[in-house]
Amino acid sequence: MTTMSDILIIGAGLAGAAAAEALTKRGLSVTILEARERVGGRGYARNFADSDESLEFGGGWITPWQEHIRAACARHDIALRPRAPVTERRWFRDGALHRDAPCSEAERPAFERGLAQIVADAKRIGEGQAYDAAGRPLTTISLDDYLKRIAAPLSLRDLCRAWWTVSGNGDPAKIPVSELLGSCAYGDGTPDSMIEVWADTLVGGVSLLTERMIAASGATLRLNDPVARIQARGDGVTVAAKSGKYQARVALLATGLNPLRAVAFEPALPPAQTMALSIGHLGASIKVWAKARNVQVGVLATGGGESAGAGLEWMLAERAAADGSTYLIGFGLAADFDPAQPGAVAAEVARFFPEAQLIAYDWHDWVGDAFSRGTWVATPLGAPQAVAPATWAHTGRLAFASSDFSREGAGWFDAAIISGLDAAKEILKLVKG
Ligand SMILES: Cc1cc2nc3c(=O)[nH]c(=O)nc-3n(C[C@H](O)[C@H](O)[C@H](O)COP(=O)(O)OP(=O)(O)OC[C@H]3O[C@@H](n4cnc5c(N)ncnc54)[C@H](O)[C@@H]3O)c2cc1C
Repeated sequence: MTTMSDILIIGAGLAGAAAAEALTKRGLSVTILEARERVGGRGYARNFADSDESLEFGGGWITPWQEHIRAACARHDIALRPRAPVTERRWFRDGALHRDAPCSEAERPAFERGLAQIVADAKRIGEGQAYDAAGRPLTTISLDDYLKRIAAPLSLRDLCRAWWTVSGNGDPAKIPVSELLGSCAYGDGTPDSMIEVWADTLVGGVSLLTERMIAASGATLRLNDPVARIQARGDGVTVAAKSGKYQARVALLATGLNPLRAVAFEPALPPAQTMALSIGHLGASIKVWAKARNVQVGVLATGGGESAGAGLEWMLAERAAADGSTYLIGFGLAADFDPAQPGAVAAEVARFFPEAQLIAYDWHDWVGDAFSRGTWVATPLGAPQAVAPATWAHTGRLAFASSDFSREGAGWFDAAIISGLDAAKEILKLVKG
């Protein structure tokens, strides 16, 4: 049996949910097909390590200017939890943990020179310029090459690599340094200042927000229903999902960029989109939660990525648990660190927090997950068109939406909502036309 609706939305992440709200408001019937058994996509709040405390295993923080998600939280009664301030800073360098300074006295002149260059280049990126003061490009040079260019000493390379795990978040040889500099530009241009804009997390996470957005929209939601094939004709689309066939006037692909590769299109997508899919985005960090006793909330520790061998490179004692212990968040690069290795997380917690008594740890593998195939978007060096919004304009009866190729703030939650709303506008024109 074939199910009919005006619009099919494939993917119940924030982009899909925002589009569903906008389209049902205009009187269209919407069916959402979601591959997983839950909504929210890369926003994923679930219980930590079989406990009854819920944490965000995907995206967590929102900035003060993310007005779309803030408005959605207000509309759907989602409370915000301010991030605890950073009260202590630690750096792992020269083979040991330091609490006094990010570099040794010997490295200080080179460290300060390199940091000043980063601040100046971040400012230029923040002003929309793609070149450094000497006219050299910043969007076409990798993090690795940039650090060589500015002759960064090991302590500065370790610091930048640590902040890279929460910004550029992938192979430092294949992603432009502008991803790090753009994040530094949120603050005073130093890597450390980027945390200042991570203002709040959502109580219940983006999972709960998405759930409420979809419920309020009145769209029909089908979970555990991955889409494998889409046939597009001049007057509509037929979608083959696990549960059967669906027909609609328009389909909105809100799967995110990388999982879209697993969907077969008939006829094939235009060459620019096919090429973009073959490149994909390169976001591939690993985010780990650990629970420990004897750690003060507010301690931020970084470093050791290059000097101590890759692992977790950035750790924050983020919030207090109900039992008085502390939850720590750690980030590393997925290619370098496997939390499933016995003792791996314990060793990294001990490296940054020697005082900690580790209770448990937990994570989600976003790179291995067939319905994300990566974390947040990281632009591939030399192929920015793969994530350019223009590449993902609608084609015939197919529209596209995701934070990965949003016209504004790509990678953030707000970008997913903006992209979903943009796609809904395109769809309204299509169904009226
Ligand atoms: C570890 C991590 C940390 C992050 N931190 C932050 C942060 O602090 N702040 C921030 O703003 N952002 C953060 N992000 C990014 C943010 O989570 C994403 O940008 C945003 O959630 C993406 O929304 P989306 O709707 O574009 O895609 P998704 O959330 O990925 O939604 C796509 C949906 O499509 C579904 N799908 C995929 N393939 C199919 C198919 N074939 N059939 C049916 N359904 C399919 C998926 O299951 C998913 O539900 C983080 C992401 C990760 C992974």
